[in-house]
Amino acid sequence: MADHDSVRSALKLMQENVDGAMYRAVLDMASEGIIVTDAENHIVAVNPAFTAITGYPPDEVVGRNPSMLHSGLHDSEFYQAMWDTIRALGRWEGDIFDRRRDGSVYRARLAIAIERDAAGNAVRHVAIFRDVTEAREVSERLWRHSNYDLLTELPNRGLFLDRFLQALVRAGRGSQRVALLFVGLDGFKTINDTLGHSIGDKVLHEAGRRFQGLIGRGDTVARFGGDEFTVALTEIDGVDGVETVIRALLEALYEPFLVETHHILLSCSIGACLWPGDGDDVETLMRNATSAMQAAKEAGRNTFRFFTPTMDARAKARSRLAGELSNSLAGHEFQLAYQPIVEVATGRLVGAEALLRWQNRYIGAVSPEQFVPLAEEMGLIMPIGDWLIGEACREAAEWDRAGLGALKVAVNVSPRQVQQGDVALTLERALGETGLAPERVTVEITESLLLSCGTEIIEKLARIRRLGVTLAIDDFGTGYASLAYLKHFQVDLLKIDRSFVATCLENPEDGRLIEAILALAHSLGMRVVGEGVESPAQLEFLAERGCDLAQGYHYSPPLLSSRFRSYATL
Ligand code: C2E
Ligand code: CA
Ligand code: CA
Repeated sequence: MADHDSVRSALKLMQENVDGAMYRAVLDMASEGIIVTDAENHIVAVNPAFTAITGYPPDEVVGRNPSMLHSGLHDSEFYQAMWDTIRALGRWEGDIFDRRRDGSVYRARLAIAIERDAAGNAVRHVAIFRDVTEAREVSERLWRHSNYDLLTELPNRGLFLDRFLQALVRAGRGSQRVALLFVGLDGFKTINDTLGHSIGDKVLHEAGRRFQGLIGRGDTVARFGGDEFTVALTEIDGVDGVETVIRALLEALYEPFLVETHHILLSCSIGACLWPGDGDDVETLMRNATSAMQAAKEAGRNTFRFFTPTMDARAKARSRLAGELSNSLAGHEFQLAYQPIVEVATGRLVGAEALLRWQNRYIGAVSPEQFVPLAEEMGLIMPIGDWLIGEACREAAEWDRAGLGALKVAVNVSPRQVQQGDVALTLERALGETGLAPERVTVEITESLLLSCGTEIIEKLARIRRLGVTLAIDDFGTGYASLAYLKHFQVDLLKIDRSFVATCLENPEDGRLIEAILALAHSLGMRVVGEGVESPAQLEFLAERGCDLAQGYHYSPPLLSSRFRSYATL
């Protein structure tokens, strides 16, 4: 900016020809506001840009002191310092808030210069200014944009980490303690998937607002990303104080969220760690608070955990597993095992359930109950699922060729796979490539998928069903789906969860539940599989009550391909 140059050239022009046409032209054409005052600082002239910016026509200001523009936002010391500088150096430059004729405040970039006579007495002052309100607002908006989360209006990850580091440094100087909380919303993905992103966004905004309302000045609550928030608490006086804040955060969500016409219930899981003690740097503390949050989720959600070293060990094992898992598909480390499914009345083999097996060269065999949830989280379940469906279809087509008969193959698909992937397309391709008839394939989905069901999922399931494949509900009885509800999804098959079969003989209630499921399912035209049948007595129990199919160690454990083929020829 060349304010001083322009001031100087304006002064020069005035000296040469104070009332001349050229001076007038400079004043008129300048896009900057110009004020000329006399020795006593009374306004003698202003230009059109001055009027455009301030709203004052010349006749309302001439003869008055420029202090008439004061906004009241600066104290007298500010003006004192400004005049001291002008007198000492002959000029001043800086940002100033002034007030327009209509009362509104604007921010000006202002340069003032003094013009003296030969004796050194002030003759005139010339002030040149630009309205920079908008420019400053833009740069402030940009700053907000890169430091704040636009959705919740809370600090974002970057700003949070900055502030957290500052808090650690300050606390270190004053030998104080700092707590870090990692807050994960429970089941938020379901809200997003079922009610849509715009409602999900509103829930996030409201959750952020409620958290913010509880956090004192000097502490920071931030949206760390996705459905995760972080809180830095400073000046804490021990674990009790932290726990009080944590409980308040948990309770803040108890009140249902009212979004549009929906009453949404939400909770959160909170992990906490303290400094000093739980880590020496921001990164370690973040990791440990995350592990503690994970532990709170595993403990059943809507609760909190303080970090312990065991969590660290588990988190490390988990990240090791995740690292190995990401290479497992390319490394051909997966195999399918096939567990026979038998018709109860005749004892005839009718098909098999394909179960995923992972044998890692370093870790060894890992149970699907451990790695499937991890694969879901990592987004790996889609490629794994695609491979698995293709492999299962190839195998079933082989059974045919090997003369084992038209056995059915059942594949498990996880909720995430249905929600994020295109299972129907994968199936269609696999059926096309292998020439397998669609009625030879069963897709097992979980009850929870149906419960969280939006129209998009219903349409996806309908597409799978239209291919001509069988739709089965896995682990039935462990969720909350009612049978009548299942009717809407054209489910063909129910698999009674193995926990009910395991206790049906000792626990009469479980026995009656199985009876009720069988009766209702049959009345709705569904067939039923009893899972986890381990003993002849359990099989008899199911047979007497008309259970259609059974599966379990009583017949066979899951078998790798060649062993399954031997089993099937028996
Ligand atoms: P699931 O779908 O309910 O699978 C049946 C599980 O019960 C299998 O465990 C099987 O080995 C076990 N099982 C079979 N018969 C008996 C029995 O008589 N008694 C007992 N106690 N258990 C029996 P597995 O293979 O460890 O699989 C565990 C879970 O992992 C599965 O439960 C399923 O939810 C998941 N899973 C397995 N394979 C896949 C897959 O390919 N894709 C997906 N998305 N999930 C899979
Ligand atoms: Ca299953
Ligand atoms: Ca099952």
